[in-house]
Amino acid sequence: MNAEELVLVAYLVPVALFVIGLKRLSKVRTARRGNFMLAAGVMLAVVITLVEMGVVDYTWILVGLAVGATVGAVIVLWASATSMPQVVARFNGFGGAAAALIGMSLFWDAVVDRDAGTTPLAALGALESVALAVSVVIGAVTFSGSLLAEVKLWGRLSRLTRIPGRAPLLVASSVLTAAAAVAGLLLADVRWAALSMVGLLVFSLLAGFFAVAPVGGADMPVMISLLNSVSGIAVAASGFAIGNTMLIMGGIIVGAAGLMLTQIMCVAMNRTLLSVFAGGLGDGGSSDGGSDTYENVVSSDPEEAAMVLEVARSVVIVPGYGLAAARAQQAAADLAGVLAAQGVEVRFAIHPVAGRMPGHMNVVLAEADVPYDRLVEMDRINSDFPNVDVVIVVGANDVVNPAANEATGSPIAGMPILDVENARRVMVIKRSLSPGYAGIKNELFERDHCTMLFGDAKQVLDDLTRELKANVPV
Ligand code: NDP
Repeated sequence: MNAEELVLVAYLVPVALFVIGLKRLSKVRTARRGNFMLAAGVMLAVVITLVEMGVVDYTWILVGLAVGATVGAVIVLWASATSMPQVVARFNGFGGAAAALIGMSLFWDAVVDRDAGTTPLAALGALESVALAVSVVIGAVTFSGSLLAEVKLWGRLSRLTRIPGRAPLLVASSVLTAAAAVAGLLLADVRWAALSMVGLLVFSLLAGFFAVAPVGGADMPVMISLLNSVSGIAVAASGFAIGNTMLIMGGIIVGAAGLMLTQIMCVAMNRTLLSVFAGGLGDGGSSDGGSDTYENVVSSDPEEAAMVLEVARSVVIVPGYGLAAARAQQAAADLAGVLAAQGVEVRFAIHPVAGRMPGHMNVVLAEADVPYDRLVEMDRINSDFPNVDVVIVVGANDVVNPAANEATGSPIAGMPILDVENARRVMVIKRSLSPGYAGIKNELFERDHCTMLFGDAKQVLDDLTRELKANVPV
């Protein structure tokens, strides 16, 4: 076996770590170890690449490693558990930025090294040229799209869905991107070629912005999964551009896993990828969630609510983003424990896009050691709601909003929801009548059998548990 073949075989070790690590991420119990395996795989891949390249001066590489590791550690240590979806979006964007920078540096090398009068296309070859352009375009689109997604997840610019003329702007930036790529690769003059490549970067960033800006409501989870996938494709393209097997394999694994997640999200949200983009390209219209004012809303307090729970035999808790924001998972688990000790059948209903990232609710409930057999997916629990005595909605809004079934112009129209209104009683814990992520009214709150328990989710759940314990000692 020669040295080249040995390196290829060595690359199989990090690839195996990636595949096994990803598989382990799919279960909460094994996710932590899976994450370590993935990190170890990346580190090993870097080491093998350096050995393969025969690098003799490691100064800048070590500086880069130190800076990257410090920035990554600071971001993660700084982030709270509730801001993890935003951090994931940011890291996605960084992956895209890295791919775009690799493409730009390869272009620069080609421009500097080529003979006078030769075009970058001739200097690089057709395959590398296409890979370079794809790497810059998809990398930059992923970068600006992911950073915009992060801003939207923070709840800022969430109303950006209505930009006048966004469809022509997206088309114009895409056409200019293609034109700049062609010019950058075909112009023999260094200055014009370099200017075109800068244009390529700028127009790609704008295209990413205009592609993600109009996406909101139920389409956002699909878009986030898609950005995850395309960051992998950008990395694979940069692997082709610089001829690095590891980047190709790693990028393809991320791209494929992301595509599968996108498909799962599309099915869960009853969306097609085309409709996510087409929805964003419409004229923006008005979101028809009905008027924003509420009538006949009944509110209550934990004492009264505990009396209702005391006679219930079957209770379903529906966690949503507000549960994660209030860090109320332990309080919810404690309430479930007290109810179960009193002989009540308690289950948690999990909507696939509750919270702000796929699997968000599974993650936070696992933190509180809620047994897996108490978690029931939407498809399995929906038909059982008519047999449920009390549903307690904790900081969820869009995922229980009947507007998804009724209002056709609503940003969540067509999204499958948890049909909690079919239960005998519904209690909703939230701080006010403010809308959820999609920004629309929720008529569930006006239903006769619905009672609002206004307050911070953790506080209200703790009060409920205390009342229950006081009335029926366990
Ligand atoms: P929503 O965003 O619809 O609603 C959350 C509710 O929680 C708000 O109405 C808010 O009301 C309440 N809340 C916030 N803080 C607290 C607190 N401290 N205590 C009590 N309540 C609180 O969340 P859902 O989980 O129902 O729906 C998820 C939404 O996010 C969907 O629209 C989905 O499309 C979108 N999304 C999901 C992603 C994913 O991958 N899961 C990714 C991107 C978007 P109030 O202020 O009155 O308390």
